[in-house]
Amino acid sequence: MTSETSTLPTAEQIRRAPKVLLHDHLDGGLRPGTVVDLARETGYASLPETDPEKLGIWFREAADSGSLERYLETFAHTCAVMQTREALFRVAAECAEDLAADGVVYAEVRYAPEQHLEAGLSLEEVVEAVNEGFREGERRARAAGHRIRVGALLTAMRHAARALEIAELANRYRDQGVVGFDIAGAEAGYPPTRHLDAFEYLKRENNHFTIHAGEAFGLPSIWQALQWCGADRLGHGVRIIDDIEVADDGSVTLGRLASYVRDKRIPLELCPTSNLQTGAAASYAEHPIGLLRRLQFRCTVNTDNRLMSGTSMSREFEHLVKTFRYTLDDMQWFTVNGMKSAFLPFDERLAMINDVIKPGYAELRSEWLFRQSAATPAPSRESDDQ
Ligand SMILES: [Zn+2]
Repeated sequence: MTSETSTLPTAEQIRRAPKVLLHDHLDGGLRPGTVVDLARETGYASLPETDPEKLGIWFREAADSGSLERYLETFAHTCAVMQTREALFRVAAECAEDLAADGVVYAEVRYAPEQHLEAGLSLEEVVEAVNEGFREGERRARAAGHRIRVGALLTAMRHAARALEIAELANRYRDQGVVGFDIAGAEAGYPPTRHLDAFEYLKRENNHFTIHAGEAFGLPSIWQALQWCGADRLGHGVRIIDDIEVADDGSVTLGRLASYVRDKRIPLELCPTSNLQTGAAASYAEHPIGLLRRLQFRCTVNTDNRLMSGTSMSREFEHLVKTFRYTLDDMQWFTVNGMKSAFLPFDERLAMINDVIKPGYAELRSEWLFRQSAATPAPSRESDDQ
């Protein structure tokens, strides 16, 4: 590779580069202005700020505070304003629009239907409102010149006892916009094995699921998610680093579980900024994604909660480019990993990789050629008589 092609991508190139997002929470990605509007429309009076800009800052600071109570309070507010059909439709449509404007070409966005029943909606009505919102967002994105596909993942909460019911719901809507299932919530004290009936049901139905595991809690959680529950992907999975030893001379030894994860190409839904906020990593430079990428684990880059982390896919990549000097080739590697790991049929994943992602990066990579010719003065002519 020439030095020109390995220069670091600019913020603008990062934004235009096709990106794939597998781990993003619908109730963690609202526009602050939408939270304010919906609170006003639904009579919700408990927001800590009613100015959108101040509210956005409040969300980031609460998530940054290191206090679990304040962190959870942020979701209490977003869920509180997402209790009607109209609100869910709007939030889902804006989610698809925002992701598309940020260069995301494929996204799997997750939410827990059981958290949107307070105003009397049924689980089915919640799923249908969100699905219709995603379709509307895709249409608006197309009208604005962006292309995106959004699939939904239905999440069950670890501390609740509705996992099987939500798994059945995911299965019922699998050909209508829902591409898989997830469980989320506090890891400690709520092992995924509590919900074995849901996972066994989905396996019998040949359906897909990911499990939040190995974020705050370590290897036992990852091991259970894979070997007891049969997860297709790991939500975070970043603590797999605890099973990797790096010696003083730089040599690396993988434990049995880390080897299994790498050998079986188990996708890791890594969310760098979110991990800094929850304390799972101290800085971008110390984030395990650097080592995991070097060791060629199936790493993907994700946002987790765009509102609480003040982030986007482009911002995640900007941090990684700055910290690890990742090039467009690295970005493409993460993006193809994401697409390979998506819960879409194989032929559709392949088409996205070959027809959207690779041509998108090839175009960006070729830009230096034209930049260079624009910057080079025209050669003096040897002779005028040719
Ligand atoms: Zn998450």
